[in-house]
Amino acid sequence: MENKYLVLAYYKYVDVENPHREVMVHKKFFKNRDALGRIYISEEGINGQISASEEVANSYMKWMANRKMFHDVEFKIHEHPQHTFHKMTVKYRKELVALKYKVDLQQGGEHVSPQKWREMIESGEYVLLDVRNDYEWEIGHFESAEKPDCRYFRDFPKYADQFKEKYDPEESKIMMCCTGGIRCETFSALLKENGYKQVYQLDGGMIKYGLEEGTKHWKGKLFVFDERLSVPIDNKTELPAISHCYICKEPADMYYNCADVECDRLFLGCDRCREELQGFCSEQCLQKVQEKNSVS
Ligand SMILES: [Zn+2]
Ligand SMILES: [Zn+2]
Repeated sequence: MENKYLVLAYYKYVDVENPHREVMVHKKFFKNRDALGRIYISEEGINGQISASEEVANSYMKWMANRKMFHDVEFKIHEHPQHTFHKMTVKYRKELVALKYKVDLQQGGEHVSPQKWREMIESGEYVLLDVRNDYEWEIGHFESAEKPDCRYFRDFPKYADQFKEKYDPEESKIMMCCTGGIRCETFSALLKENGYKQVYQLDGGMIKYGLEEGTKHWKGKLFVFDERLSVPIDNKTELPAISHCYICKEPADMYYNCADVECDRLFLGCDRCREELQGFCSEQCLQKVQEKNSVS
């Protein structure tokens, strides 16, 4: 029988009185259960991505639904034939989204449903701001999305000034999106602190959009932070690649980490180049490891 795993992505901002204790409670729940992933718990809430057998995933969601703090956590669910993580980490974190300074999360942008989001795109009245990192943007994004001018979005506070020169805070209507929604909570609040009056965030992020609205207005793949690295936005429809192999420049939308663990560079490689370089990101990395092996 074919295995079926569920990949869950979820977060909730909620006051967690004793996050260290909650870490223990979570660890206890997952002990001896078939689940892997990454769960961060802080005073301000929870952020998790896990893969689990269907049975364990369902019992986890049920368990969460029965807990006052987490009863309304919304899970975005993909099916997958295997685990998408190789270990389980449940950890305390001071902030769920790292940013150099504090923003008032209560002041975030207005949440809009995937359907409303699609209608807003179609109206053509909005600036669509993708707040992911540039390597995520590279393999897939909404058609009309601006490429963010920073490699890592935690640099956004710096970028906000340039953004203001381009888009008037009083007049501009900003649609903000990210993978699962959590980064928009922070960055939409930041944008509003910068004087923007009309800021909207895609509820549940691109994952939920893909599940509800399919591939409409989307190009390429969706980058995800697990072993899959990229998935079709609706988790089933393969769209043409919009990105290119770093080596031969042919279309490619599969990211790999260089087989040299010291290098570990995230790179886009087509099947042919990847085979020729034996999973390394470059001739140099391949040679380096070959030389090392011939010495020892
Ligand atoms: Zn190639
Ligand atoms: Zn390398």
